[in-house]
Amino acid sequence: MEPASKVPASTAPIETDTVIVGAGPCGLFQVFELGLLGIKADIVDSLQHPGGQCTELYPDKPIYDIPALPVCGAQELVDRLMQQIKPFQPRFHLGQEVTEVTRRDDARFLVRTALDTTFLARTVVIAGGLGSFQPKRLTVAGADAVEGRQLHYRVRDAARFHGQRLVIFGGGDSALDWVLDFCGKAASLVHVHRRAEFRAAPASVARMRELVAAGRLQYVEGTAAALRIADGRLEGVEVKLSDGTTSAFDADHVLAFFGLHPKLGPIAEWGLDLDKKAIRVDTAKFQTSEPGIFAIGDINSYPGKKKLILSGFHEAALAAFAIAEYLNPTKKVHLQYTTTSPIMQKRLGVSG
Ligand SMILES: Cc1cc2nc3c(=O)[nH]c(=O)nc-3n(C[C@H](O)[C@H](O)[C@H](O)COP(=O)(O)OP(=O)(O)OC[C@H]3O[C@@H](n4cnc5c(N)ncnc54)[C@H](O)[C@@H]3O)c2cc1C
Repeated sequence: MEPASKVPASTAPIETDTVIVGAGPCGLFQVFELGLLGIKADIVDSLQHPGGQCTELYPDKPIYDIPALPVCGAQELVDRLMQQIKPFQPRFHLGQEVTEVTRRDDARFLVRTALDTTFLARTVVIAGGLGSFQPKRLTVAGADAVEGRQLHYRVRDAARFHGQRLVIFGGGDSALDWVLDFCGKAASLVHVHRRAEFRAAPASVARMRELVAAGRLQYVEGTAAALRIADGRLEGVEVKLSDGTTSAFDADHVLAFFGLHPKLGPIAEWGLDLDKKAIRVDTAKFQTSEPGIFAIGDINSYPGKKKLILSGFHEAALAAFAIAEYLNPTKKVHLQYTTTSPIMQKRLGVSG
């Protein structure tokens, strides 16, 4: 399901009550709990889509410990959360890592992303899970030197690769999608995958094989052995084939899609009290060592912490109450039931 409102990267600061860092299941449910209390949120994720680990690591696996859902697919859970938060119209800022959170003199936080989107936020909720997902990189000599120029882990501007000699690595959906997309548009195209089994959709693999049979692209089973670089320019790549021999392919660009792995990343630099790779919080408000900055889900640490979605949902509820009090210290926040509260039902768009 598409995010309700996807905001393009912007340079003017966006003023908001709360920025949620991380659109995993706990960040998404935080939108809901804040929304019930009338607090709007902007939500940022380094991935291009919401869902965190559920979507990135195990979308098709069943989850059995979500209350009242005896079994629920991980992607299905994310889709349901997206449906549930729709009435609150959160603003999504995807594909951009939050790199900086600093307190300003007026007590608001300046939050900045890698795309230079900036927010002036009265509160921040860090729902960063295991950290932001980074592409798994090619581990051959010289890779760092050509990364971003001729070695790529994502496609930002597809037209840039048209008419070029391409070598594409990987056996998942991203690799297959781009192999099929660039076939006929690239000057030459070689697809390399390390084994006979693919993680990509079977239909994409079948289509790739048809194109190979028709001579439209070349496919080899193997792994990258070396990059051929001359005068700082990538000229080709050597592939160790599964039969033990090595083949060289000319290339203007190499694209590698080996999946993503999480890394705590910039969160560690924000001056918060940490417990190993997690952020210390209290268990009444789920506030960090910095008043106004809260942390929920897998990223936080407290005595007895269990990294379960269920725990993150509870933490989101309590953090929302604490945020309401933080934003309006003189106003008592009363507990209300969605079953009977007219104001909550109005916010949910379900009142008659
Ligand atoms: C295979 C597997 C099976 C599992 N099964 C279960 C289960 O059955 N039941 C259960 O309860 N739990 C299960 N879990 C654990 C569950 O997935 C996690 O507890 C849950 O995803 C945590 O949610 P979260 O929102 O805290 O973090 P995440 O899901 O990790 O999402 C965090 C998000 O924050 C983003 N992010 C991080 N840093 C930044 C930054 N600086 N800027 C922008 N974005 C950032 C990341 O890109 C990510 O999208 C399982 C986990 C795995 C790997």
